[in-house]
Amino acid sequence: MNFAIDLDGVVIDWDSGFRTEWNATHPDHQIPTRSRTWESPFEDTALSHTAFWKWIDDNEVYRNLPEMPQAVAAVKAIARRHNVTFVTARHPRATELTELWLKDHDVWFPTFHSNDKAEFIADCYIDDNNDNLRDIIAAHPNKLVFRQVQPWNSHVEGTYAIDSLADLVWRPADAIQ
Ligand SMILES: [Mg+2]
Repeated sequence: MNFAIDLDGVVIDWDSGFRTEWNATHPDHQIPTRSRTWESPFEDTALSHTAFWKWIDDNEVYRNLPEMPQAVAAVKAIARRHNVTFVTARHPRATELTELWLKDHDVWFPTFHSNDKAEFIADCYIDDNNDNLRDIIAAHPNKLVFRQVQPWNSHVEGTYAIDSLADLVWRPADAIQ
């Protein structure tokens, strides 16, 4: 099967990673270790969207982010039996740092950059954004769509919830086995 796997919030723990970097460089402005909603990064840092993303780029935050628990091993396991493409809404200016991260973690599979993830054709999708999940279900109602559970998303009709990519690999009852 062809897998379309989101990066941030599924493979890469962008949320805790940027927060660790922020707290290390802002001793007088500490922020919580986790987002509650999609707006939490901007609310917690008190930056506009533009200023926040500039800070992310200026500090090369994408370079040294942690993986989601067991995610890299799970991607490697999936890739032994299936085709993996990372589908991400990261801005194209993040391409170089994204590729470095994937090379560092030995999961350098093709990356498809798009704000419309439903335009990528796959058999199985994994994402953590409710809007993306709804768009994918609407465009591809017969495909397998998994929601990586995060505090900032909620059930989307037609999707299956997973706590980790590892759920797809090391739980033999799951649909892709
Ligand atoms: Mg994501």
